[in-house]
Amino acid sequence: MFKNKIFKNKIFRKQQLKFMVLNLISFTVIFTIFGLIVFSQVQNTLFSKTDEELLMVKERINDHSPNDFKTPPPNDDSENVPRQNDWPKNPRIIVIKWDKNDNIVNQNEIGTSFYEDYLEDYTPDKTNLDTITNTNVNNLYPFRYILFEDTHDDDEVVYTQLMINIDAEQNILNNFSKLIILCSSIFILLSISASYYLSKKMMKPIIHSWNKQAEFVENASHELRTPLTIIQNKLELMLTTPHEKIANKFENIALSLSETRRLSKLTTDLLTLARADSSETQLEKKSIHVDSFVKSVCSPYIEIAESQDKHFWLKLNSDIMMNADETRLHQLLVILLDNALKYTGEHDSIGVKTYEEDHKVVFEISDTGIGIKKENIPYIFDRFYREDRARTRESGGIGLGLSIAQWIVSAHSGSIKVSVNENKGTTFKVKLPK
Ligand code: ADP
Repeated sequence: MFKNKIFKNKIFRKQQLKFMVLNLISFTVIFTIFGLIVFSQVQNTLFSKTDEELLMVKERINDHSPNDFKTPPPNDDSENVPRQNDWPKNPRIIVIKWDKNDNIVNQNEIGTSFYEDYLEDYTPDKTNLDTITNTNVNNLYPFRYILFEDTHDDDEVVYTQLMINIDAEQNILNNFSKLIILCSSIFILLSISASYYLSKKMMKPIIHSWNKQAEFVENASHELRTPLTIIQNKLELMLTTPHEKIANKFENIALSLSETRRLSKLTTDLLTLARADSSETQLEKKSIHVDSFVKSVCSPYIEIAESQDKHFWLKLNSDIMMNADETRLHQLLVILLDNALKYTGEHDSIGVKTYEEDHKVVFEISDTGIGIKKENIPYIFDRFYREDRARTRESGGIGLGLSIAQWIVSAHSGSIKVSVNENKGTTFKVKLPK
């Protein structure tokens, strides 16, 4: 038993670890995808602004006459004065004009120091015409540029390159990526504890149903073993006196038979519940006249009650039709009526009442029997639960009747409630949709 518990705990822990790893992987993937999306979105937004600026200047250059950009001769004194165009120049954009031999023709316009510092050894990459590209001038300064063939009929200028420094954007992106990495790391750390918590929560119903199943199997085997042992003992006893007459062994045979009957009922009930658990049993609903149906189910019980000196009364107020599985509804009433008979004594009364409430059909089975202790009411629908084991065994009780009753009711989307009568006994109230 102890070994079994250790083994069980090991399996649970292994499963919980699996859940935790699975949760953690899911969280990490989600955060990573989220981070990448946010990062690429920010990058796009930042560069779309610079790209817009580049394309706008390109368009303006294409729209202007070639003379607007024509660089004045180098020895001209007015050369250092920037040329005035009819549109304001974007101070962030450097316009470089290349000739056929990859020489810059507007050196003066660019500024000598900029030219000497950055562009002296720089050659344009003509394979990437008309596409906005990133470059690192001197492997240090990030620029975004567009190189295009000058559409104007100019002898000197063959290519125009528009460059924009993206140091600020790059800085923002670097800081942003650091922030995202930091946040993701914090989130992943947090998700470790969240995964642990979630995996524990996910394990709870599994452990619960595992324990319930184990308890069920244990109870079932115990219930099966007891009658089998009794039958085996009685048969063995009879074998010791093979020449004895059956009449003399009447008691042993009767007991064995009653235990066999018990076994048969037990296996049928177990099968019903197993099928209910696996949702194998389908209801076969049909139209039933409530009061006539209850009357026919109760009629043998009226006779039994009479023979046991008990009073049986009927108050049928549901002259209506309802849609239900006849066999299951019959089984439900039989379980409740059997119990009412089992747990009442001489001169007690048993009553069945039908009526409509909230557009539903109500079946009330009440008795003035031994009743159920209030503190035990929450357990009476549990499998194999019996208030008084010794006593119920005598009366043939196994403790599965009410579990089956509860399944039948919930399969019909109804409800079953039990209450302790004010005077004496118990009332079961079953409410089913029409
Ligand atoms: P059993 O086969 O033992 O009757 P049930 O599941 O039908 O199993 O009932 C579970 C327990 O509920 C019973 O053992 C009994 O203690 C209690 N019980 C059920 N119906 C009644 C009733 N009408 N009066 C008193 N006790 C009841």
